[in-house]
Amino acid sequence: MPEVLDEAPIKTSGLNHYFGTGDARIQALFNVNLEIPRGSLTILMGPSGSGKTTLLTLIGCLRVIEEGSVHLLGHELNGASEAAFVSLRRRLGFIFQAHNLHESLTATQNVLMGLQVHGTVDPKKGRDAALHILGLLGLSDRCDYLPGNLSGGQKQRVAVARALVSNPEIILADEPTAALDRESGRKVVQMLKTLGQVRGTTTVIVTHDPRILEMADRIITLEDGRIVSDDLQ
Ligand code: ADP
Ligand code: MG
Repeated sequence: MPEVLDEAPIKTSGLNHYFGTGDARIQALFNVNLEIPRGSLTILMGPSGSGKTTLLTLIGCLRVIEEGSVHLLGHELNGASEAAFVSLRRRLGFIFQAHNLHESLTATQNVLMGLQVHGTVDPKKGRDAALHILGLLGLSDRCDYLPGNLSGGQKQRVAVARALVSNPEIILADEPTAALDRESGRKVVQMLKTLGQVRGTTTVIVTHDPRILEMADRIITLEDGRIVSDDLQ
């Protein structure tokens, strides 16, 4: 099916999700309906256990859709093949709370991993792209450091660089600023916002961080698996 460019890159409708079986079965999401426009920055808030990560991983092709629909970049995920998931995931950038850096690779090499999932990369171009993005994140003087020699905030910024280096169409971030001080946290979010404006990158950030709320285009709040508010800023 051809992709329609002005279609919202993320759409969910009637989305339900469950964990466990028998008596232990719980419903984590209830009838989630969302339409997120291209180039926007959306913040997903809500108490612990409200379903934020579940929703983000369903949108990110990291979990199978059980009930309802997620439409991602023009493709329906409910019933999609593993091959379709793999090729869609390549168009996404993930930033997780646990930054999952390779401890034996330098900052630059970790960022290059973000390009290598896309196949062969010209080594010089790849390195230039990695150094450029590390520079934008204020890490020019840390490119050759191993994660063990970086602070928590620096490691988190390397993970952000790794997610951004391949110019993903959608960025999904779970608590990306938790380990950052106010200034670096705002810098990272400002960068995501700018990417939305200049490249049309669509960003969804799960956060509790009140310091970045004002930077969002939209704030969606989940409680007990349901959307309880959806505010355009
Ligand atoms: P949040 O990210 O908002 O803290 P989650 O999406 O992680 O919330 O969790 C939503 C609900 O689903 C919670 O009740 C949680 O305990 C449950 N849950 C999440 N992941 C699993 C899992 N892998 N197995 C069983 N229950 C889970
Ligand atoms: Mg979570």
